[in-house]
Amino acid sequence: MQKNEPFEILIEDITTEGAGIGKADGYPLFVKDTMIGDRIRGIVVKAKKNYGYGRMTEILEPSPFRVKPRCPAARQCGGCQLQAMAYEKQLEFKEEKIRNNLARIGGITGYEAEPILGMEEPYFYRNKAQFPVRRKKDGGIAIGFYAGRTHSVIETEQCYINHPVNVQIVKTVRQFLERNGITPYEEETHTGLVRHILTRVGFTTGEIMVCLILNGRKLPAAEKLVSELRAIPGMTSISLNVNTERTNVILGKEIINLYGDGFITDRIGDVKFQISPLSFYQVNPVQTRRLYEKALEYAALTGTETVWDLYCGIGTISLFLAKKARQVFGVEVVPEAVADARRNAKLNGIANVEFIAGKAEEAVPEFYRQNPLSAGARPDVVVVDPPRKGCEESLLCTIVQMAPVRMVYVSCDSATLARDLKWMCAHGYRVEKVCGCDMFGQTVGVETVCLLRRSGGE
Ligand code: SAH
Repeated sequence: MQKNEPFEILIEDITTEGAGIGKADGYPLFVKDTMIGDRIRGIVVKAKKNYGYGRMTEILEPSPFRVKPRCPAARQCGGCQLQAMAYEKQLEFKEEKIRNNLARIGGITGYEAEPILGMEEPYFYRNKAQFPVRRKKDGGIAIGFYAGRTHSVIETEQCYINHPVNVQIVKTVRQFLERNGITPYEEETHTGLVRHILTRVGFTTGEIMVCLILNGRKLPAAEKLVSELRAIPGMTSISLNVNTERTNVILGKEIINLYGDGFITDRIGDVKFQISPLSFYQVNPVQTRRLYEKALEYAALTGTETVWDLYCGIGTISLFLAKKARQVFGVEVVPEAVADARRNAKLNGIANVEFIAGKAEEAVPEFYRQNPLSAGARPDVVVVDPPRKGCEESLLCTIVQMAPVRMVYVSCDSATLARDLKWMCAHGYRVEKVCGCDMFGQTVGVETVCLLRRSGGE
């Protein structure tokens, strides 16, 4: 096809950025603001050899799955790609994405596909928000969210996937900035003081954390901010974060505490966690619990097992497993997260877990070389929860040598999951069960838990 050529297509899929995908005579076209099931007319705006981009000119037949987004900013905002899709259909879309990736990339079929764990309330579920604070052209302050793939800020009173208390927090901070003449950040000139507002809410405890990210080290009238924020019930921790770099990375390394002990506490199931502004913590606590319970079910622990939890973060899954296992080893690359993991183990009185700081693909082979005869070298179960890029082959190699009967793979990217499962299947394992878990309603993200079993394993 060529530029400006008209087309008519049925939208059959969606990209990670939320653009619809359809085919005109086998030629894939990406079209914004469309929905799976829409039959549309459009024109080609950019034609590449194997695919092109189109602009919709008319909806010939709207998708039966279209709903009116609750959030008035849903279309401009980059956060929710699927708000215009009925939630039931979102779940179906995510299940299909997992199934397709496993089959297409991994050649994996014939497992038990469990129904996806959908959310009961797919709105207001996030416990963490990061609001950019920016100088507007007229000198005013914009606080909100980035528009899709840009850094222009869409101002919103309320985000429909974040905890509602954020409305009050943003309002309080905005008033404070305006009344005290404190400047918002300007990206182009790298001037202005306040860059972001980070908030976290402990869903089970009601504890709230607010951290202002500054292009500097000092916040004028900080004591006023503290007293105004403390009027919000549940306010537990108020701090500043210093980030004077010219960068897209939101947080700097230094925290200056203004109020509280520097953390809030939350619980997943009966495990307690202290969360500081810099540590990683799952953003959807309700679904996280269901995800971990599924991982635990697949691990099928009886109390006698030796278990590895690789990519363990602050030890959330490790501590869940430790209650049912003899010994757990956790491995995590970020040293601060390892420190949190150790502290969380103590906080919960859990002694049968050991955390190792390092890259899983280096620390585990190293452990195996040094302690070939230890129980750790012959685990019963290995759990992995890697970032999007999945596991390194050198790690999978060591896992195969360690020969656990069961491996539980928790993944946030079913494409790299499929690649790794394919490798494991070529090396003596088979995929027994797969279960999706929706942690990110209204967005295209989905988590997957898989149970692998060693062929010949009991
Ligand atoms: N299981 C945890 C964290 C999962 S996120 C939880 O559920 O909370 C993935 C984690 O892997 C992050 O904490 C990240 O810091 C860590 N990570 C990334 N690359 C790694 C590597 N090569 N080796 C070990 N950990 C790594």
